[in-house]
Amino acid sequence: MESKFVEPVLVLVLEPGLAGPLRRRIRERLGAYGGEVTAVEGTDRFYLEVRGEIAVLQSLSVESWSGVEKVISLGQELLHAAADPAVDSKGVEVGSVCLGDGSFTIIAGPCAVEEEQRTLRIASEVCSAGADLFRAGAFKPRTSPYAFQGLGEVALQILQKTRQETGLGIVTEILDPRDVEKVATVADMFQVGSRNMHNYSLLKELGQTSVPVLLKRGFASTIDEFLMAAEYILSCGNSNVVLCERGIRCAAATRQVVLDLGSVPELQKRTHLPVLVDPSHGTADSFRVPALARAAAAVGADGILIEVHDQPEEALSDGPQALTPDQFRQLVPQVHQIRAMLDDDDSAVTDDLVSTSGGEDH
Ligand code: PEP
Ligand code: MN
Repeated sequence: MESKFVEPVLVLVLEPGLAGPLRRRIRERLGAYGGEVTAVEGTDRFYLEVRGEIAVLQSLSVESWSGVEKVISLGQELLHAAADPAVDSKGVEVGSVCLGDGSFTIIAGPCAVEEEQRTLRIASEVCSAGADLFRAGAFKPRTSPYAFQGLGEVALQILQKTRQETGLGIVTEILDPRDVEKVATVADMFQVGSRNMHNYSLLKELGQTSVPVLLKRGFASTIDEFLMAAEYILSCGNSNVVLCERGIRCAAATRQVVLDLGSVPELQKRTHLPVLVDPSHGTADSFRVPALARAAAAVGADGILIEVHDQPEEALSDGPQALTPDQFRQLVPQVHQIRAMLDDDDSAVTDDLVSTSGGEDH
């Protein structure tokens, strides 16, 4: 009988050398849920193409089945953002910096562009301390309409000067689709803030450009919604998207947001896009920032975004979460060391952890 499903909706990448009986078991399990499976033999592994009802197949959490290394979704869902071994390690270039190519990128600067001399001073401090890109908002999306909204076009000129003086690429937030051209004159990377993650007109507009986009997770968004927001930009033709976990609201939390570090491996499993972590907005208090920045490096993020201000108590926005330049300078080698430990040799690190924990079973 001919299949009613024309195209496969999932491709399962099986673990290299997976034994025949285990492959058969996976096929049978999929078959039990209506999946029609075709095995494709690669050089060192098998791939299973699966046809069937996408909603049913996606609800099976196949990615957690034993013997399955990765699942590539080919349905309508994540057509562009899905994990793809072919583009997995390419990364997104922002000037001379490449995010997600295996390096650890540090984006730092004040929440907002304030007066010129202060901005240049902070930029020069973060640059000499090891930041790869400078970030500061010209247009600020504030909760209160009466709070400081950013210096707008004046700030764009200051950012231009900052790039000239430090050589650092500029990351700055875009709020309004009508400002895309203007902000693109200085932005090496647009930031889409948490509040605008669902602003689909803005996402589609940014998709028409080739300027890299740092897309922050909405503070009440699921991972699926986050990935779909990325899909809006990617599907319009801009493939330069970087995701950023920045903390989410939790019913049980006493703090405003809780940094969801578990999203990092999940996003890395489901998408090929680089994933950064913002421990500044994710903790809202400077005393927590270094610890969570180190944790972001340990969890395997592709980089971090850190707010830095030379006089946090005078900052016009987000002062309480800003590190001083000295605190930032201390943090940079720590995150690089943690990252290098992960890179060194995964098995050596695992052996080390097992031997220091006594190797007991739990
Ligand atoms: C910011 O980066 O300054 C900012 C406002 O972040 P978020 O959109 O994550 O709140
Ligand atoms: Mn901020």
